[in-house]
Amino acid sequence: MKSGPKSRAMYKRALKSIPLGVNSNFRHWGDDQTLVVKRGEGAYIWDMDGNRYLDYRNAWGPVILGHAYPSVVANVERALKMGNIFAMTHELEIRVAEQIRELTKVDLVRLTNTGTEATMHAIRFARAYTGREKVLKFEGHYHGFQDYTLFNCQPPIPGAGYRRSPVMVPHGSGIPKVLSQLIDSIPFNDFELLEKKIRENWHDLACIIMEPIMGNSPGIMPKPGYLELIRKLCDECGIVLILDEVKTGFRVAKGGAQELFNVQGDLVTYAKAMGNGFPIAAIGGRKEIMGEIGYQKIPHGGTYTGNAVSTAAAEATLDEIASGALDKVNEHGKKLMAGIKEIIERKGVPALVQGPPAMFGIVFTEKSEIHEYRDWAGSNHHIYSEILDKMMKKGVMPDIDSREPWFSSASHTDEHVGVTLGAFEEALTEVMETI
Ligand code: PMP
Repeated sequence: MKSGPKSRAMYKRALKSIPLGVNSNFRHWGDDQTLVVKRGEGAYIWDMDGNRYLDYRNAWGPVILGHAYPSVVANVERALKMGNIFAMTHELEIRVAEQIRELTKVDLVRLTNTGTEATMHAIRFARAYTGREKVLKFEGHYHGFQDYTLFNCQPPIPGAGYRRSPVMVPHGSGIPKVLSQLIDSIPFNDFELLEKKIRENWHDLACIIMEPIMGNSPGIMPKPGYLELIRKLCDECGIVLILDEVKTGFRVAKGGAQELFNVQGDLVTYAKAMGNGFPIAAIGGRKEIMGEIGYQKIPHGGTYTGNAVSTAAAEATLDEIASGALDKVNEHGKKLMAGIKEIIERKGVPALVQGPPAMFGIVFTEKSEIHEYRDWAGSNHHIYSEILDKMMKKGVMPDIDSREPWFSSASHTDEHVGVTLGAFEEALTEVMETI
């Protein structure tokens, strides 16, 4: 979809000061397509030209309650008047750590600002605790823009090699080659490969880091028993299990994927939904590891960690989540998933609608199930993007990148279900007619 004249003019201005005109590469949709947003409220955002979109990107997950959500805004306003950072602990930080412990059952919590920081620190904690250096990740799993895990996040297939022994493909230039010696990756959901990799390499492995549900390859779920096997192997081999719940945390359930699957990580990283879009993240985990953070032990810190504005946002957001906000989010997602499935089946289009309702994905594939990144890589992304482009023109906006799930918020209503399904069916029909 082409952006309107005001968006385009603003984007041209951005290009003069900001590389690619965006502050995160993933936000660039093309020179004539990249929208500039004016504001958001509830379930909607508006671009510079005044076009309104029903938002299912929700900033790639953080906006769990809705844009400019009143209770969050009020708490942040209160905090703003208190001053923001002090290089000392204040009560809001303690309160948020308590809320996280109550919701997720982790023993101890350290706050950070972004998901990237959280995973980077968690890996250090695991290395320090085990005295080992290597990290095992999964193909198609993304853990932020820190160099340690920026390999095989979205590798070209077949460029990533044989699936039983993938080549480590960096996410771009500037990532030290030497780091590829500290990381290994395997396809998700393969029991035999997992066991083989761990049995052969456990003595070097500090941690396994993983998205318990693939939030960056649209909503691919772990097979029954897979997380349990990872947990068991980590216990047997003294490997730290880091569950990266940056996308799933406080979204798929109050206690995140840990609650959904009844599997605990040794360390867990949270970010997006915990602050309804304010920059706050957390590392939670077992006392044995987290209790070792400190001087002359495991380093962790940050000037902005636990600042009053972000913790106030988190306090209000986690309060809403504790009081049942996710019921609405899940209900909405379930209705959309059922509606989309019905449309796809009625139209006879080969596609899967999968994942948890609060962050589900659609994959155009002939396969009856998909379980790993390579399955997604072999699906028809072109059709997906064309449909989504047409939906956007109709004012409904899930992400155009087919790896991104559809993120519901507590501001979505039943009326929005009808609007969204209507836009999806029209867009699908129009695209099918051109094929
Ligand atoms: N982990 C996962 C699973 C993510 O999806 C992301 C971001 N999409 C990150 C880490 C990085 O988080 P942030 O963008 O807040 O640094």
